Amino acid sequence: MYALRQWSVKNARPMKALYDGLEAVLLKLHPVFEWLGYRRIDKFVLGIEKVSKGLLFDSQSCGQCILGSTGMACPMNCPKSMRNGPCGGVRADGKCEVDPGMDCVWLLAWEGNKRLAEQSYPIQVVQPPVDNRLRNTSAWLREVRKLTKTDEHTG
Ligand code: SF4
Repeated sequence: MYALRQWSVKNARPMKALYDGLEAVLLKLHPVFEWLGYRRIDKFVLGIEKVSKGLLFDSQSCGQCILGSTGMACPMNCPKSMRNGPCGGVRADGKCEVDPGMDCVWLLAWEGNKRLAEQSYPIQVVQPPVDNRLRNTSAWLREVRKLTKTDEHTG
């Protein structure tokens, strides 16, 4: 929902704190996830992600969530799917070149990032291109696996 997406960016700091808290909880659940089998629960967790992140961020379920690096603005709402934006076509009033009815996702990302950042600017980290093979898989479970160094090809 567009209004909630903008609200989330305006409240980037508490939203990021919420996200960090959720990550800590998910990390604690890693042994349970392993016991259940990551692959087996992926669709279930993805369903929760789709509802919650869809509502708050208009998440497009790319499976490689970088909200924490983009001021809590989902870059997949950019019509050009830019992972390192903005493009060169942002309108003078800050609206999107392709969809003038919405603010440029990357201007919002920059604003959100300013609210987040105290010493660092994670938005300045160059992001790899989106891997379309990971669409519609759980980004949360992928992050837990990454942080616990659990092999993605098992479980
Ligand atoms: S103006 Fe912004 S949102 Fe629109 S296509 Fe360019 S980078 Fe994406």
